[in-house]
Amino acid sequence: MPTDGDRALDFLKKLSFPRLGGSQEEKKAAEMIAEELRSIGLEPRLEEFEVWSYANPYAKVEVLEPYTAEIEASALGLSGSTPPGGIEAPLKYIETGTVEFINDVEGCITLATGNGGAKGYERSKKKGVLGRILIGRQGAGLFNLAVNSFQFERFGKLPSAWIRYEDGLDLIRKGATKVRLIVSQDEFKSMSRNVVVDIPGTSEPEEIILIGAHYDSVYDIDGAHDNAAGSATILEMARHFAAHPARRTLRFVWFGTEELGLKGSWAYIERHADELKKHVFMVNVDVAGSIIGTNNASVMASDKVLNYLDVMGKEYGIGLSARSSIYSGDCIPLGYKGVPSVTFARGGGGPIHTKADTACDIDAKHLAMLGDFVLDFTVRMANSVTFPFPREIPESIRRQTREYIENAGKVLDEGADKK
Ligand SMILES: [Zn+2]
Repeated sequence: MPTDGDRALDFLKKLSFPRLGGSQEEKKAAEMIAEELRSIGLEPRLEEFEVWSYANPYAKVEVLEPYTAEIEASALGLSGSTPPGGIEAPLKYIETGTVEFINDVEGCITLATGNGGAKGYERSKKKGVLGRILIGRQGAGLFNLAVNSFQFERFGKLPSAWIRYEDGLDLIRKGATKVRLIVSQDEFKSMSRNVVVDIPGTSEPEEIILIGAHYDSVYDIDGAHDNAAGSATILEMARHFAAHPARRTLRFVWFGTEELGLKGSWAYIERHADELKKHVFMVNVDVAGSIIGTNNASVMASDKVLNYLDVMGKEYGIGLSARSSIYSGDCIPLGYKGVPSVTFARGGGGPIHTKADTACDIDAKHLAMLGDFVLDFTVRMANSVTFPFPREIPESIRRQTREYIENAGKVLDEGADKK
């Protein structure tokens, strides 16, 4: 029961254009997916939700003392804007940007390798940081990433910009003590949407297996690996199940606005709260297609799933690395509500979240390599006489899931994950 790698690649290429959550381009991508589903006789629903989005981001860093230099930068989306002339302030390197390093920073611009999560964000605001410069990963160029709206809604704006790893190293080595940071962008509320379609089960329609992939990208990046590839992969799966319905109900969800804080999956669990008990499992595909790469499965479910995938991976001989781990994606809100999941990813190309995430290092063969495996795994589960896996998530994964959500800045509703 193979997927059609060539057809998936065609669709992936069509979908490989910038499609930031809340943008017109994201809406166009949702309509393209819906149109494709209609062409195979399915009736998708577009489930809308409100998001924060942004446009026209601009950033620049100028070194003022003890030497002068201009450094190319990219604005951290949704982090606000400085006054037009920028902010001039002492520069302070604070390592990872996590709370323990945020001391004696009042009136400073901080330099760090990460945004320090919600706690780092909150402490930076409290301690009087004026702006932040974030250092990208080695070899990854400039990131086009945004801050989660949970953070600025709680703690306020903090204008921030990304610079390249090499430039960050240079600032520290040369001992830059004073910089000017300029950040500008237009921020606005907008609508995003999940594309949802059901293929009812033939004998256990009350048991729902959710098949998910986010279809949005980060700002001004094609997002071919992340995640036009996953979107095209689950579209192939929808074609299969449309022609061969399973015992259980398959619900396909192309999530919007994942890159701005999993907004599509948070909207989904709210909208479908009454139904979540029927969700027996989630299969998520996030990042795929890379010619050079490795196949991975992050299991947020019982070790029985882990063992099964390990055995099945060996059957297929695709070097599948399955491990018990949370995955930074739409599986998080579902896991928080008790829905076990596995996220499949084929990484290696890209790097994701940079301009290099294009279709040029993806091919049909490697799209189908993971696609065939995920389809077969899902077919087995969906057609099992007795559902093979308990609806359980190990406590360590539950704890990491809660920590992930707190780190993103969302306030946990107590006991919500105990349902
Ligand atoms: Zn992704």
